[in-house]
Amino acid sequence: MNNYFIILASGQSKRFNSIKPKQFIKYKNKALFEHSLDKALSSQLFKKIILVVNNRKQIKKKYPRNVLIIKGGKERSDSSLIALKYIKKFNPNNVLIHDAARPNFTIKLLKNLINSLKRNKASIPVISSKDSIKYKVKNQLFNLNRSNSYLTQTPQAFNYKEIYNLSIKQKNKIQDEATLFIENDLKIKFISGETFNNKITFKEDVQNTKTYFGIGFDIHRLILGKKLYLGGIKIPFHSGLKGHSDGDVILHSIIDALLGAMRKKDIGTLFPDNKNRFKNIRSPKMLAPIVDILNKNNFYINNLDINLICEQPKVSKYRVAIINSLSNLLNLDKDLINLKGKTVEKLGLIGKEKAIACEVICSISQ
Ligand code: ZN
Repeated sequence: MNNYFIILASGQSKRFNSIKPKQFIKYKNKALFEHSLDKALSSQLFKKIILVVNNRKQIKKKYPRNVLIIKGGKERSDSSLIALKYIKKFNPNNVLIHDAARPNFTIKLLKNLINSLKRNKASIPVISSKDSIKYKVKNQLFNLNRSNSYLTQTPQAFNYKEIYNLSIKQKNKIQDEATLFIENDLKIKFISGETFNNKITFKEDVQNTKTYFGIGFDIHRLILGKKLYLGGIKIPFHSGLKGHSDGDVILHSIIDALLGAMRKKDIGTLFPDNKNRFKNIRSPKMLAPIVDILNKNNFYINNLDINLICEQPKVSKYRVAIINSLSNLLNLDKDLINLKGKTVEKLGLIGKEKAIACEVICSISQ
């Protein structure tokens, strides 16, 4: 797995009418470049991910250690050359070069590209054009034959040595790395691109989304002497929640709310409690595959509102810690998560401190 992923996020974005550089505009609740970064990380296909930016101070967030942030050059081709030179010391086999302005590719595309490098030196995703394309020669327009014209996308995948040698010899400023192969009459393998993997160029691209809501509810019985887990963390308390798993009512409700919003049934279908392999499972392990389904389908969370229904422990004491934990598990901004505590006037099982319940509503968009 000696693969490297270069994300070019140092463009000037002249066509994007905004003061902030386009790569740092919030798109689906994250900076534009973070979509590519998070997907590369969760694919686990890359030894290192190199993020190329104009100014390293622009990056405030902490990323895992295999994410390296470097300063780019004036033009796109300068930045990619800087990144290619930078990773030479690691002796990479394969490198994928990607424009941060394309946030919507899938992990499957990454896998296809890397697989294709087993037999090819260069592999790029292409789609056929839905619109007819014309080109102009001396004031006259000609139709491009649509059946043999392609629109090229990124990530573009290369054998490292090949692309490095071509890049250091390049004379003209290139639009993408595939151009170097074309200019040198070298073979490129075309693989199927993805129509939704378009470049975010104009502000309108950012606004075309659909929104869904989901609701979740869960209740577990309190047992003296058991560990109590809420929102993925251990809470000091004399009792814990009984269940097939760790009984984390907050995470279970969140899972059901997210599945509901995605219209993908419920937690019981995914984790049947007659299956031994889910016995005593920690709930963050149940949430992780749900977050994967969200990412794979290009959903993102707009907000979560949580009611934790119990007499004890007091929510106010653990609110910050629980929200921090949820923010980490969901890769979601803290200010998009709200947690309320609710008592029930000592009524019923919950009022007698024999159970804790939780309800969650979430909004997601695609
Ligand atoms: Zn549960």
